[in-house]
Amino acid sequence: MSIQSIRLFGDPVLRTPAAPVVDFDKELRKLVKDLTDTMMDAPGAGLAAPQIGVGLRVFTYYVDDQLGHLINPDLDLSADLDEEGEEGCLSFPGLSFPTPRAIRAVAKGFNMHGEPVVLEGTDLMARCFQHETDHLDGILFIDRMDAKQRKLAMKAIREAEWSGLSAPTVKFSPHATGGRAL
Ligand SMILES: [Zn+2]
Repeated sequence: MSIQSIRLFGDPVLRTPAAPVVDFDKELRKLVKDLTDTMMDAPGAGLAAPQIGVGLRVFTYYVDDQLGHLINPDLDLSADLDEEGEEGCLSFPGLSFPTPRAIRAVAKGFNMHGEPVVLEGTDLMARCFQHETDHLDGILFIDRMDAKQRKLAMKAIREAEWSGLSAPTVKFSPHATGGRAL
């Protein structure tokens, strides 16, 4: 097991676009293992490399008992949206908010051996692919909310015990957020 600490909102790495993976080597396989171990320990439904401080386009997911990873993802999204679905994020421990997302997503990319992979997801799986791919572009779920919802979310974030906005050294171990945090 190689559980890494999860970066919290306020850490600049979460706002930095990640670079495409070029070398499908041993180091990449270790990154996938670290992400998987850290996600399962949290527990979470998804985790992107920038959330453990690594600026590469890699994420892992664990949704509906399906565990996997995707590298250099490219998404095709359905036009129909789920406007009301609650979404959380391991970089915002204990919080979840309604966040609009496409109901279906096709995610194309590679596995850690460099083989092409196509993943099709609906509902929570589709939400996960969108949330994690956003992380790789430096986009956070608060950016996907409408203005009114974002205002409510920012208030809850400022009031959160872990909030790095006022106390950057606070360390918080997230547990049992309903298994839906990403
Ligand atoms: Zn997240």
